[in-house]
Amino acid sequence: MYFDSVEAMDRADLEALQARRLRDTLAIARQSPFYKERLAGFDAESIRTPADITSLPFTTKDDLRSQYPCGMLARPLEDFVRLHASSGTTGTPTAVFYTQKDLETWADLMARSMYACGCRRSDVLQNMSGYGLFTGGLGIHYGSERLGMLTIPAGAGNTRRQIKLIRDFNVTVMHIIPSFALYFAQKVREEGFDTADMPWRIALIGAEPHTEEARRKIEEMMHIKAYNSYGLSEMNGPGVAFECLHQTGMHLWEDAYIAEIINPETGEHVAEGEIGELVMTTLTRKGMPIIRYRTRDLTRFIPGQCACGRTHRRIDRIAGRADDMIILKGVNIYPMQIEQCLMAMPEVGQNYLIELVTEGVSDQMKVKVEIKNEYFVEDMRSLQGLQKRIAKNLCNEILLTPRVELVQHDTIPKAEGKAVRVIDNRNKD
Ligand code: ADP
Ligand code: ZN
Repeated sequence: MYFDSVEAMDRADLEALQARRLRDTLAIARQSPFYKERLAGFDAESIRTPADITSLPFTTKDDLRSQYPCGMLARPLEDFVRLHASSGTTGTPTAVFYTQKDLETWADLMARSMYACGCRRSDVLQNMSGYGLFTGGLGIHYGSERLGMLTIPAGAGNTRRQIKLIRDFNVTVMHIIPSFALYFAQKVREEGFDTADMPWRIALIGAEPHTEEARRKIEEMMHIKAYNSYGLSEMNGPGVAFECLHQTGMHLWEDAYIAEIINPETGEHVAEGEIGELVMTTLTRKGMPIIRYRTRDLTRFIPGQCACGRTHRRIDRIAGRADDMIILKGVNIYPMQIEQCLMAMPEVGQNYLIELVTEGVSDQMKVKVEIKNEYFVEDMRSLQGLQKRIAKNLCNEILLTPRVELVQHDTIPKAEGKAVRVIDNRNKD
């Protein structure tokens, strides 16, 4: 029923395992120039339970940047066999190194994750994310092979070839970025195929924030089950937390990571079930351990047990990155609030773009929304009505009325990797 019996390990045993692994991790970390200094004077033996982690300092993205390229390594460079880098969505990238053992552990976590949402060795997986430095390529790839699936490294882009591969090799599992999935479903139809007749049954979607509404839309348009996949290169890449068949949040693999949720302002733990910043510590990484890493990702622990029997706690879908928050006229807005509104409306197509501009003395938000073709043929008056309804729905959610522009489907430029949702053209002075 599980890929690894550790997935259903008794909580007390799991916590004892975490404490043991944390002590080992601290010993390894100390071999790196960065932690040698940061952890000077800290007694690893004082760690008795995972909760004792709060006595340790945080590590931030800026710390990693300041140690670029090799300051985080706890072993000589020749012991490493792979390097990845974050996609640099929010600035200078950070480099992550893996030993052979680290790659194996990562592949196991990935395989476990895919098994949890129903993938089996008889499946055929097409990996539609970019390969290269981005961990979504090789990370998924090695995990898929580890599970024993026939793995097609299709990479990103080239929609026609993707469709041909899927049909020729009866692809049953796809790994696809959510913003691309909606676009792809439309392309499949335009190529004259019915998405209901495609061989696929499972989509692994992740790498960028998306709403429940977007997931449902992907599932409906593609006739597929879509499972949320969370990870970040600093914590290996994908395979950190994954949805099981129940789709009620993502199990975060607690034998490999200690996860905390903190109030980003105070650094204190939030109350159980409350939203905050996810902080993570690696427990099984041998070459480049990271302690109390501030991910900037906002989520919460979902209280209670999952019906699947896995004991590892679940995190909710990522509400956004702390860096994504828009402050407009003193109001805090997350792009996902806008997506949630838009994707709940049947007329709305696949894509949208938020633009912030300065007009005269005040800042404004413009939201460009792709509308499904069948609604564009209608008369001017109903289009204006739709425009007003979208603006009103958005205002209910974000408490500001943005200027809404309706555009035809496929007119907003599509990023090859993670979607760009916000363009900030405000005067900065
Ligand atoms: P970058 O920070 O440059 O995008 P990564 O490629 O390592 O670097 O991406 C990791 C980040 O992607 C996470 O910190 C998170 O913000 C986002 N992310 C990954 N998976 C998901 C997911 N399932 N839902 C929402 N956001 C995600
Ligand atoms: Zn579950």
